Amino acid sequence: MIARLWFFVAGVLVGAAAVTFFVMRYYDVRLVPTRPVPVVATAPTTSPPSSIVAPPRTPSATPPPSAPNPAPAPATPVPPPATSVPAGAPASALLMPVQGVQPSELVDTFNQTRGGTRIHEALDIMAPRGREVVAVSDGKVVKLFNSKQGGLTVYQFDPSERYAYYYAHLDRYAAGLTEGKTLKRGELIGYVGSTGNANPDAPHLHFAIFELGPEKRWWEGRPINPYPLLRGAAVPN
Ligand SMILES: [Zn+2]
Repeated sequence: MIARLWFFVAGVLVGAAAVTFFVMRYYDVRLVPTRPVPVVATAPTTSPPSSIVAPPRTPSATPPPSAPNPAPAPATPVPPPATSVPAGAPASALLMPVQGVQPSELVDTFNQTRGGTRIHEALDIMAPRGREVVAVSDGKVVKLFNSKQGGLTVYQFDPSERYAYYYAHLDRYAAGLTEGKTLKRGELIGYVGSTGNANPDAPHLHFAIFELGPEKRWWEGRPINPYPLLRGAAVPN
């Protein structure tokens, strides 16, 4: 009898804990901020809807801080994780977008969560502030955008206008960079920084690739993980 009473009490306690857990999860989800509506002086020709699917991306507020001094190389090099190039990814090899970064230094942050439940869907490339950021491929600057979360950003379309490349948290743009400018692979577009919601102590390039829809909207597309593509990237001179 005592044992049955005990199981009953334990069951009630477990039930209460589960209810509390789901209530907290519910509020956690509700507290996730909605995607921002672009706020810039120069409005796009067609205004992005408030229910935008892709960018403006919302990079991490606090990526892991980069070590002040170069980290010593591990005694035994860690083999790169098994990765496959995602279906529909750009076929031509991309250039590493940050000067001086080796493909082996990259960490796959594509599937990390940011701000509770949102998926990062981009690559954070840690680098010192002021390091040159270059175009990963030929293409065209379609949008220079200053967003609350991404800071100073560049949206580039590849020549086929099938893919968009997104560079965020820039410290500043390269001199002479304008919307509509044709870019050559490796051309300077800006400098690594922490504008937007990046941790000032951990400047980095937030880099994303997305496959554009038929409307070719710079703020809308299907995210593609840049990591497998940049693991095999050439390094800028
Ligand atoms: Zn990021």
